[in-house]
Amino acid sequence: MHLAEVEHNLKPGSRAQHYIADIVGDLPGPTIIAVAGIHGNEATGIAAIERIVKEIEPLTSKMKGRFLGLKGNIPALSAGVRFVDEDMNRLWTTSILDKIRRTKSMELSSIDRVEVKKMLQILDPIVLSEEQGEIIYVDLHTFSGSGGLFSITSDDDRHSKILSKLGVPRIFGLQHSIPGTSMDYVEDAGHIGFAFETGTHGSKEAEDNAYAGLLVLLESLGMIDKNDISDFDVCHDYLTSRVSGYPSKVKFLYKHIIEEGDEFVMRPGFHNFDKVDKGDWLASDKNGEIKAQADGYLLMPLYQQQGNDGFFIVRDCE
Ligand SMILES: [Zn+2]
Repeated sequence: MHLAEVEHNLKPGSRAQHYIADIVGDLPGPTIIAVAGIHGNEATGIAAIERIVKEIEPLTSKMKGRFLGLKGNIPALSAGVRFVDEDMNRLWTTSILDKIRRTKSMELSSIDRVEVKKMLQILDPIVLSEEQGEIIYVDLHTFSGSGGLFSITSDDDRHSKILSKLGVPRIFGLQHSIPGTSMDYVEDAGHIGFAFETGTHGSKEAEDNAYAGLLVLLESLGMIDKNDISDFDVCHDYLTSRVSGYPSKVKFLYKHIIEEGDEFVMRPGFHNFDKVDKGDWLASDKNGEIKAQADGYLLMPLYQQQGNDGFFIVRDCE
């Protein structure tokens, strides 16, 4: 079933606007839920999901499981901004979700909460269903800096089994420093969830990385046969080449939190996984130079206006 066409017949603001596609294979298998644009300035993942849909839609008769592709924050996507009133990817804590479910859309305190409510109307019947089999939730993101691609995930066997097949660097422990992401919601329900940071906002490379990653994931879960995808090997090799030289597993050490009025500015030229030493000058704010508080790798240096995370420092696990 392809729901993308249906949305045009429904009133604006309806949850159907969130569907990119819902493809159900004829054979039983896991469910991949791929979400793009939960940050409205990160639309690249939508194009990647649309490419995946084109590839797998003709294969439904032999596909195992279900691929559900969703858009996140529709008003923010339309405006090309990270969020409208508040970050939609910091609202998925148990208590805020409970409040959002109990409150009428018109009475919610922000447009972004209305978006969460519409997403929950789609996701709750799947994610919270007792009959539901394995769910793998992929939250697609891009970043304002450059360099690499990586996943933000939990350090347990179930996640490792799946993420190791994807082969991109895994960042552990970050979700504790970013509470209320949609991954929390999926993982609290007992499923697999990870964020997939695929490249610089709006770049072709970020789209290609997301597309190749999703394709490899579908194949590694046994949902599609690689022989049915003409460019599977090309995508697989491409993905491998994109991550060579990067550490495979790193753990979160700390992030620099930007507070109101800080006037934070990252120094130019930093990339993901740049090695930094304690004391290196990384950024400035109105109080002066901000230096690395530990040795490690730099992650997600902030080169945009919106967002409260200035940069992260991570370190090798091994
Ligand atoms: Zn994001």
